Amino acid sequence: MSHTETSKEIGLDLAHCSCCQGCVEINPDIFEWDDNNDMPHLLKDKATEEELQEIMACCPKDCIYLLE
Ligand code: SF4
Repeated sequence: MSHTETSKEIGLDLAHCSCCQGCVEINPDIFEWDDNNDMPHLLKDKATEEELQEIMACCPKDCIYLLE
């Protein structure tokens, strides 16, 4: 059986975002800070599960989740 790295879709709900910029610091490949809106935005909508676990854990407001 072969093991392939699966790509998961990233969900971002900024309703409770505290603008801490942690997501951008932890993973600048996925998040970019939008100075106009003063919020993070996604540079890509997919990540490996490992990347997602890391960025989900860094968000104090649980804005980042895995879309099923
Ligand atoms: S880590 Fe979470 S709370 Fe902080 S800026 Fe990113 S989305 Fe907002």
